[in-house]
Amino acid sequence: MLYKSTRGGAKRISFQGVLFSGLAADGGLYIPDHLPKLGVMDVSKFVDKSYEEVAISILKPFLGDLFSEEELQTMVYDAYSGFRKRDRCELVSLSENHKVLELFHGPTFAFKDFAMQMIAQMFHQALKKIRKSITIIVATSGDTGAAAVQAFRNLEFINLYVLFPKDRISEIQRRQMTTETASNVSVVSVNGNFDDCQSIVKSIFNDTSFSERIALTGVNSINWARIISQVVYYFFTASRFSSNVKVDFCVPTGNFGNIYAGYVAKKLGANIDKLIIATNQNDILHRTLISGRYSKGEVFKTFSPSMDIQVSSNFERMIYELYQGNGNIVARKMRELHLKGSYGIEEDILNQLGEEFYSGTVSEEDTLAEIRNVFEKYNMIICPHTAVGTKVSREFFDKEKITVSLATAHPAKFAESVEKAIKTNISLPKSLEKLSVKEEKVVEAPNDVNYLKDLIKREY
Ligand SMILES: *Cc1c(COP(=O)(O)O)cnc(C)c1O
Repeated sequence: MLYKSTRGGAKRISFQGVLFSGLAADGGLYIPDHLPKLGVMDVSKFVDKSYEEVAISILKPFLGDLFSEEELQTMVYDAYSGFRKRDRCELVSLSENHKVLELFHGPTFAFKDFAMQMIAQMFHQALKKIRKSITIIVATSGDTGAAAVQAFRNLEFINLYVLFPKDRISEIQRRQMTTETASNVSVVSVNGNFDDCQSIVKSIFNDTSFSERIALTGVNSINWARIISQVVYYFFTASRFSSNVKVDFCVPTGNFGNIYAGYVAKKLGANIDKLIIATNQNDILHRTLISGRYSKGEVFKTFSPSMDIQVSSNFERMIYELYQGNGNIVARKMRELHLKGSYGIEEDILNQLGEEFYSGTVSEEDTLAEIRNVFEKYNMIICPHTAVGTKVSREFFDKEKITVSLATAHPAKFAESVEKAIKTNISLPKSLEKLSVKEEKVVEAPNDVNYLKDLIKREY
């Protein structure tokens, strides 16, 4: 299978190229040039399969000949061996047809572990063969960074830089990164917001002579290998229900990565009806769906910081799809976004989008009220991101269908906000509790790409 760019201007490349590049040369994102569709029969067999078995079936057609069958198996089993649940994710019930899918049973207590653990295996296995070193730079709104640190720590051939927005992530999120002692990991606190961090990473990528010299690689959710790793839990979960019943998934969304994986799962043949976009006060996607204009606003700091984003990078893949693979149109819209801060979506295209997605947004006050509501009604403690999801999922709940709302992080990662909502102290899992006594190591940096380049140069 070959991969092409959403902006139509880059040549087609193999999975290995996609794994190791962030953006395509024309600034676009890579997507497969065709999607294999699984038959109803194949999908129905998933019901008796383990998470790992489903993962192997889904991943295999996307990897080309980069790994042998045996390597793929080893990688998948190793990736998920550190998860605390047999099924890796866990489906729990709010009511008979209203479910919550817990995706926080991996090493860093957020769903990011599902993809990051998997791609770390892929990187390591591929680099071992060619004996080449790479540099990974990742911008994080909190959870991606922690997941990357855990996944890539002490891996030979990999240098990792993590950039997080100073004072805009939770204390536990920060400590999960800054207490890391592995010598191949550098954690940088940037004086700016998440979009600033992301734009620093993008400019380093765009300086091709520099990025080639350090063999720069991206693991943000624009990396296709992450998307395809996340497709697995949609299949795994959808296959637990009878194919006669429609299943909606509601996803607390920031960069449109997780929900886009849900869309890919649907295209591949998973039993998914509607995908519901749940946003916090940073509601660019919800506004886009109701107004037909994708328009960058100010980034607000909220109780659900991992979704404090105004540029949902993966949405470009959706735009490409909606405009039937016309890279010129995508490139034009992205240029408009860059120059004017917004672009429009024509009415017929917007209607198509509405066929696949619903959307809703939740205020700060309602996020806390929802945490309290779920605690009082179901005796379940959820994190603020998860609460944004359950709140919106209730707006669209249809008792004739199954609604699955994704729980993207463990509540203890956001203890301050959760305790504020439920007025009860929550206990930390042991591995998180230990973080408070460890020493922190962090580089303080201004919001300046040259500062970061100098920092990296010094180590080369
Ligand atoms: C990253 C993250 C999200 C948003 O996921 P996207 O793929 O960026 O849409 C939601 N909740 C939590 C806890 C996260 O870490």
